[in-house]
Amino acid sequence: MSLSETTRHTLIARLNEVLSQESLLSEAETMRPYECDGLSAYRQLPAVVCLPETVEQVQAVMRICHGLQVPIVPRGAGTGLSGGALPDSTGVLLVLTKLNHILEIDPQNFCARVEPGVGNLALSEATRPFGLYYAPDPSSQVACTIGGNVAENSGGVHCLKYGLTVHNVMGLKIVTVDGELLKIGGKTLDAPGYDLLALLCGSEGLLGVAVEITVRLLPCPEFSQVLLAAFDDVAKAGTAVGNIIAAGIIPAGLEMMDKLAIQAAEDFVHANYPTQAAAILLCEMDGATVEVSEQIMRVRQIMFDSGAFEVRTAKDEDERALFWKGRKATFPAVGRLALDYYCMDGTIPRHSLPEVLTRIAELSKEFGLPVANVFHAGDGNLHPLILYDANHDGELKKAEALGEQILILCVSVGGTITGEHGVGVEKLDGMCMQFKALELSQFLGVKAAFDLQGLLNPGKAVPTLHRCAELGAMHVHQGKLPFPELERF
Ligand SMILES: Cc1cc2nc3c(=O)[nH]c(=O)nc-3n(C[C@H](O)[C@H](O)[C@H](O)COP(=O)(O)OP(=O)(O)OC[C@H]3O[C@@H](n4cnc5c(N)ncnc54)[C@H](O)[C@@H]3O)c2cc1C
Repeated sequence: MSLSETTRHTLIARLNEVLSQESLLSEAETMRPYECDGLSAYRQLPAVVCLPETVEQVQAVMRICHGLQVPIVPRGAGTGLSGGALPDSTGVLLVLTKLNHILEIDPQNFCARVEPGVGNLALSEATRPFGLYYAPDPSSQVACTIGGNVAENSGGVHCLKYGLTVHNVMGLKIVTVDGELLKIGGKTLDAPGYDLLALLCGSEGLLGVAVEITVRLLPCPEFSQVLLAAFDDVAKAGTAVGNIIAAGIIPAGLEMMDKLAIQAAEDFVHANYPTQAAAILLCEMDGATVEVSEQIMRVRQIMFDSGAFEVRTAKDEDERALFWKGRKATFPAVGRLALDYYCMDGTIPRHSLPEVLTRIAELSKEFGLPVANVFHAGDGNLHPLILYDANHDGELKKAEALGEQILILCVSVGGTITGEHGVGVEKLDGMCMQFKALELSQFLGVKAAFDLQGLLNPGKAVPTLHRCAELGAMHVHQGKLPFPELERF
């Protein structure tokens, strides 16, 4: 479906009144860079791209769209991996990257106020001279925006100890679908009323457009140290993760890479990883120097007791950075192994890691597609990367089918269909699998309270009941579910 020529003409004329020429794109060639996000298998040109420079312009664009009943899809840097910023052919793609100012750094209250287009890493770089940093650190942090992080409730290496985005956001200014400005939370802790702040974190652009965010900052730790442990068996590495946490130690980061991921990263950045290992764990401790040194010794022992054949502590800051460089570069490194890869995102209880990783390896063999695993092990947040070649007939479908089996596996052990990449367009069917009609009705009710006409990011994150009914998943409790593994739920 496309917008009628008359409506598009009116829309562009009205937008021209509030945006500069450079901030309004309507030709196919100029809009092409915005046709997809990180889930590039899905592509779509919008009717128009708007790049507002002020909050007032965002409000004006929203009012115009609301008046004409035109859909709006917000977008940050477009690094999302679930198609959340996929344009709507009948609507406006609202790109927030020109709103990229740090409005205030407040060292006394350990917080900062930023516009949504500020980059995640750029924020920590700006606050470092004050001895402060912003803890949630997605691996895409060099590119992704704080607005996108809020909308996806993003996680990262340090979220095990310091929480997800939702735990590090104190306030939001939101432009509603009809152009009003809503202020939620702020510099003080807690506020009366429903916790709308938590509701908006992770709402994937369906409830409003974040135009200002107050984030919590933390003091830079006195000392950080990372330890690399190598295992000859993935399941042993999974067991080590549970053993560390069970010992009452909360590492600042606890990441796992399997053989394929290790090899890819090593070939790419030469991090000096043990390439003979079936899995490695990177475990970072931070805090006071004495405390970190003591915890490193304890974790070292736990790694050996869990079956590690080698444990290395980074000898200096350069080696620590190198260990992490390998981990953070694994996605692009894996991209060198195959023409395409499909990045899955699911969460499982930590104790299920050994069983789930073993089953993923079996599924990889059954489907004949290699799977590299690199993930936030401490959070039980898996990122299996399924390697395939879209030029081969049917391989994309096969990769998607394998991905679906992995998500079914996650749910069947009590986990979820997404850890941090959101639902977007990618996991709508997964939502039918995870939730009952009653729960989905509540989600749809919340959406209607903010956006009755469904103009904000339509077709994303929350499936219609009709879609789920068609899929058959609504019949889970009548025993007609297409996923027999889930019958016990
Ligand atoms: C290599 C790579 C590694 C990654 N690693 C991680 C990781 O470790 N952890 C993690 O959590 N994610 C990770 N991601 C996914 C992605 O980077 C995050 O989801 C990120 O938060 C998206 O930010 P963005 O600015 O690119 O948002 P976009 O992709 O542009 O948008 C994401 C969603 O947010 C909405 N949105 C954007 N801005 C706003 C706004 N101001 N108001 C309302 N809605 C808005 C969009 O509509 C969309 O639904 C990774 C991605 C890549 C490519």
